[in-house]
Amino acid sequence: MILLLLEIICVWLIVGNLILLFSYRQALRQFWLEPMVKQPIIIFESDDWGPGPAEHGQALHKIHQLLTEFRDYRGHCAHMTIGAVLSIPDAEKIQQSQYQAYAGLDLSQPQFSDVLGSLKQGQQAGVFSLQLHGREHYWPHTLLSEMQHNNDLKEWLAHNSAYTEKLPSPLQSRWNPPLSIADIAVAVKQEVDLFKRCFGVAAEVVVPPTFVWNEEVEISWRSHGIHTIITPGQRYYKRSETRFWSDKKRIVNHQTSATGQTYLVRNQYFEPEFGHQWREAIDKVTSSIKLARPCLFETHRFNFVNSEEGCQNSLYQMRSLLEQVTKTWPDCCFLSSLELVRLPQHDPDKLLIHHWRHRLQCWRNRAFTLPKFRYLATLTGLNLACWLIVQVKPVTDFSLWQHQSDKPRSN
Ligand SMILES: [Zn+2]
Repeated sequence: MILLLLEIICVWLIVGNLILLFSYRQALRQFWLEPMVKQPIIIFESDDWGPGPAEHGQALHKIHQLLTEFRDYRGHCAHMTIGAVLSIPDAEKIQQSQYQAYAGLDLSQPQFSDVLGSLKQGQQAGVFSLQLHGREHYWPHTLLSEMQHNNDLKEWLAHNSAYTEKLPSPLQSRWNPPLSIADIAVAVKQEVDLFKRCFGVAAEVVVPPTFVWNEEVEISWRSHGIHTIITPGQRYYKRSETRFWSDKKRIVNHQTSATGQTYLVRNQYFEPEFGHQWREAIDKVTSSIKLARPCLFETHRFNFVNSEEGCQNSLYQMRSLLEQVTKTWPDCCFLSSLELVRLPQHDPDKLLIHHWRHRLQCWRNRAFTLPKFRYLATLTGLNLACWLIVQVKPVTDFSLWQHQSDKPRSN
């Protein structure tokens, strides 16, 4: 009788785990292959900077100063990537044409020299790295045709044309609805050429506006040397006012596109203008550490340019966050997204985890983020098996089971 019971339990454990692993195989494989980092990695990612008034240049200068005040244990400054928009509408010319012909003003024009100067200064100092967001944030033809019968858009053009973040949200998506291959090819060539003309270096990393893009756009970017795409963990190929359509439902860090580009995942928000506080951001760092992932904070331009008080508050929140991060995790690292992309090939600070037992811990934590997985893994005994394997020879300097913020590590 006891033997029969044991046999039933064994069959249950084997069959149950096989079914569980098979059902979640794709995600579990992605989570295993995704590089795992053993120390906190923080990157700020700020999009939408581009042609604008001199105050935007001053805001960038303040961010630059703030970032240089904080260094990681290697002596590297805190870092912000800049998703650069390169052109805004030329309101005067468009109005003169009775909204029939599009014309733009680009970042290299003298009236934007403060913004461009601040961006270049930050880049040279190593606190900013410049990423392509788009020649325009929107698709010019779509914007123009909408404007012809929309007075709000005419108002926006007359008074706010440097603020693409104030456009209706679907209009902010440059690659929506999907365009012809020929249109994409011309537009991508224009944007990478303009990027090089403005900054003197070729674009290597791209952040698709509102995260809407498709494979044709990727192919064009690839052909112009862009090898890294920042994603929100999915690829949206189309959007409407209320809905996004995705053709890649789960993207993880360092996953490659069909054309061999590397995807990175922006996994956290830090938008003080939306009320985000540094304390919540600390929790987000903690949860990223638990999953052995870098923490890429999205923090848009509007946090720093909407108002003077807003800018002060955003800088205060960022300063408090950096103070707390460097105090709680003395071994934290500030990287650029390019350094992060190269980590599997070039890891001088030994940030990646290679030991399989360490990796098993992180993999289990990642798997627990899948719907119902924790519950099912407990039921089938997989959870216990993973735990036992790690306990056989606990890893002393690496205890992801515990709350990391309570227990800063020294190495
Ligand atoms: Zn944007």
